[in-house]
Amino acid sequence: MPQPDQVSAPQPRLEIRDIRRSFGGRDVVDGVSLRVMPGQVTCLLGPSGCGKSTTLRIIAGVDMQDAGEIYVDGQLVCDTIHRVPPEGRSIGLMFQDFALFPHLSVLQNVAFGLTGRKGEKRGKVLELLKKVDLARAIDSFPHELSGGEQQRVALARALAPKPSIMLMDEPFSGLDERLKDEIRDTTLDVLKAEGTAVLLVTHEPDEAMRMADEIALMRDGRIVQQGAPYNIYNAPVDKRAAMFFSDIN
Ligand code: ADP
Ligand code: MG
Repeated sequence: MPQPDQVSAPQPRLEIRDIRRSFGGRDVVDGVSLRVMPGQVTCLLGPSGCGKSTTLRIIAGVDMQDAGEIYVDGQLVCDTIHRVPPEGRSIGLMFQDFALFPHLSVLQNVAFGLTGRKGEKRGKVLELLKKVDLARAIDSFPHELSGGEQQRVALARALAPKPSIMLMDEPFSGLDERLKDEIRDTTLDVLKAEGTAVLLVTHEPDEAMRMADEIALMRDGRIVQQGAPYNIYNAPVDKRAAMFFSDIN
């Protein structure tokens, strides 16, 4: 029997500690710490301009923090001295403007995220497309697909390198309401089935309530409250937080 002090808590897929970033003397990210646990969806929720995308870009490695550390599966991938490049971080990305390559087929788009020999790739891509229920579209081009189908291909592409953590920056905001509901559910189902941990950025409280296991409420570069969606909804930290959630029906 392991002793209680030997029983370690599960390791977070992603942990960031005290991340800071300023632009022109303004602290846009002002000491953000977060953990995302295996199989969980954590939502970074906050109004436009509060520093969500900057935080995500730093985690992805396309921007650099002024201070703070980033760990993936317990491994340090970035502090102010060491810096693992984006492709070495085991991080998947789905951004709103992270569109498919229009001149490449679905096969080529998804294969873009794969390593290995060319002949093996079609089989792997087919497997990935089955997960998003789009195997039939393997030889199509993006313009032949609906917006929702394109989104599902983007999800398959992001899953291709089997990332430990998926970062999603308002990936559904360009879609119409009906499609949004459908694609949110599909995305969540696929990611949960894969066991991929997710950090989802959104400014929409209802999206966070619907998708998150954990919400981190962000404001002016800081996390002001963190917890299970219904706890945050039922006991907002202050009036501003309550107002922010008041639109949900
Ligand atoms: P959010 O994603 O929450 O809407 P962002 O992280 O995109 O917020 O931006 C937070 C603030 O930082 C905004 O005021 C934005 O204008 C500013 N900002 C972001 N990136 C830069 C940059 N590269 N240079 C200067 N200001 C920036
Ligand atoms: Mg943003």
